[in-house]
Parts: sequence; C-alpha cells; structure tokens
Amino acid sequence: MNALAERLGRLIAHEGPITLAQYMAIASHERALGFYGGEHDPLGSKGDFVTAPEISQMFGELLFVWCMGQWRKQGSPGTARLVELGPGRGTMMSDVLRAAKTAPDFLAAIDVVLVESHPALRTQQETRLAATGVPISWTEDLKPEVFDRPVFVLANEFFDSLPVRQFLRAEEGWRERMVGIDASGALDLVISPIAADAFVPGDRRGDLPGSIAEISDSAKALSSILAQGIAEQGGAALIIDYGNAAPAGAPTLQAIRAHRPARLLEDPGEVDLSAHVDFGVLAASARQEGAAVFGPVTQGQFLESLGIRARAEVLSLGRAAEVAGSLSRDVERLIGSQEMGELFKVMAILPPGASPPTGFG
Ligand code: SAH
Repeated sequence: MNALAERLGRLIAHEGPITLAQYMAIASHERALGFYGGEHDPLGSKGDFVTAPEISQMFGELLFVWCMGQWRKQGSPGTARLVELGPGRGTMMSDVLRAAKTAPDFLAAIDVVLVESHPALRTQQETRLAATGVPISWTEDLKPEVFDRPVFVLANEFFDSLPVRQFLRAEEGWRERMVGIDASGALDLVISPIAADAFVPGDRRGDLPGSIAEISDSAKALSSILAQGIAEQGGAALIIDYGNAAPAGAPTLQAIRAHRPARLLEDPGEVDLSAHVDFGVLAASARQEGAAVFGPVTQGQFLESLGIRARAEVLSLGRAAEVAGSLSRDVERLIGSQEMGELFKVMAILPPGASPPTGFG
C-alpha cells in the first residue's frame, strides 16, 4: 500500500466511503503524490500512455488547419484566443504554433491560454514553447472570463481524465459504487445502501440489473462553459478523446500503468485513471447553451478528410525511404481502425447556426 492509499484509508475510516469521483480527483491531483500533481511524469513512450501528438507532428498541424479555417470562416477576428486543455508536454501546441507561421495574420491575432494543473508539466510546456514568440499564459482551470473574445479550444485526451462517479443498477434500484476499505484496511469498492436513482439520467432508468452508469459532473460542466463562451463570443472547440456517442452500460473507468491495465484502486497517484468520454452528455450540455454541435466522428475520418495522407507525402518528399516508411506508419497509428482511428472520436462545438465544419461532412 503506498502513502496516498494509506492516507485515503485513514480518511475513509474516519469519514466513511468516498465517491469514485472524489477518489479520482485526489489520486490525480493531490499536490505531492497525485498522478497529475506530483513529480511523476505520466507522458511519453517511457510513461504510462502515448498520445496522438506524441506520435506525430501531423496531428497538431492538422488541428491548426482546422482552427484557422474556422477563424477565417468567422471573419478572421483581429483579437482571438487559442486555448488548450491539458497540454501535456506542450508538443501539440508547439506543432500548432509552428504550422501557424504559414498564416501570419492568424498568428498576430491570437494569444494562447494553457489549462494545466500539473506543475512539472507546466514547466515542460514553458520550456517547450518559450521560443514561439506568442504570448502564452497558464491557468489551473478554465474560467468563463477566458471567453471575452472568439476562443478556439483544443482538448486531446483531457476529458477522459476528469473524475467520474459510477452507479450500479442493483435489484432494488440504482446504487452508487464507492471507495471504502475492507477488513484489512485496504481500499475496496463498496456499494452504497442509499438510493441513487435521482443521479442517473432518465433514459437509463430502465437498465437491467448489473448495468453501470458513469457520470462526470466536471466534464458536463466544462462542456457548458465552452459552449456558453463560444455561443456568445464566437470561436470553436474540438474535443478529441476515446469514447462513444452513447454509453454501453458497462464500466469504462480503468487504471493503466506503463501501458498495461492495473487494478482500479492499486497505488493511487501512480497509475493513470481514465474513463471513456460520454460524448452524448457533452453534446447535450453544449446544445443547452445554444451552441451548435457536430460529431462525434471517428478520429480516422476526421484526420483523413483534413488530408493527413497528403501531409505525410509532403513531409516524405526528398527524404530517405525509412523516413517515408515511418511517416506512413504514424498515419496508420493515428487513423487505422485497429489503432487509434476508431476508438478515438472528435466532436466540435461551434456558434449557433454554424454550418458543418471540415471533417464532419
Ligand atoms: N493533451 C496532451 C496530454 C494528455 S494527458 C496529449 O495529448 O499529449 C492530460 C493532461 O491534462 C495533462 O497535461 C494533465 O496534467 C492535464 N490535466 C488533467 N486533469 C486536469 C484538470 N482537472 N485540470 C487541468 N489540467 C488537467
């Protein structure tokens, strides 16, 4: 049992079981020991998972092309903002800003706001982006004040790390799955005896016993902040993550350590916790704010229609055969149906009345 597990065990012994969302928030963000809070470096090939921007520069470049297209469609506003949620090592933003040199008017119009809670990752981002010449500021969480102009938001593998609560359809109705302790004091999943039907959306009421509902209040709240800002001020958001348009009734919350599944409550702060994103909920809360929502479409479809194959060919020109080969393997990893292409989805939030954007046709 690690130090954070012991601390959580003592808390639970005194206060009773905590929700999985509370557990995730502490395991992810505890200042010294949390996965995204401490010194632990979660990213990159030596870390716990590899993300699309870490696979290839083409990913960030194509997201730039998409954002710039939206910016032009909205009349090339002279003051605009580029926001990234959870920028990790800063790789994607660095690719976006390098590609943006091809559009000096866009580059001159924007400042950048990075939403990052991890102090060590923020330092990596500062170093990585120091030479871009673009004004960059950081915030720990996305505040509505950021939306005082058209804002273009990118979020790759961010929403999956937000805390979720889990509810189990028991014989007698919905009950919350919580984190308690077993007789030895070790963390263990327990089922709350209290009726929780009111927390589960109406369309899940008829689920069969054994079904699990996962609910992320923070993901839903964040989607409405994005949508409200974009509906009022213009701009666009692209949310890229693994998940589905509709929940399947099975739990998706998982722990990963060094690219392998780990037990859910094993060594809090040392394993990556994530859950599939419920795009249906994000879309509904964005629409409630009056925004237009497109997708989710698969990452494969999205990147193909933005021209990832052509981009790989351009990058291969005049390069050695190994380079061309490695670029086409990267394309396959990003869009292949057995790789990231189908598991990952892309959803866009745009101002009211917007026509379908590139990639969503
Ligand atoms: N987008 C990056 C990194 C994904 S990992 C990539 O694709 O490589 C998730 C990122 O979100 C990390 O930078 C992490 O520190 C940050 N993060 C996670 N939860 C957060 C929260 N609640 N508030 C702010 N940042 C958070």
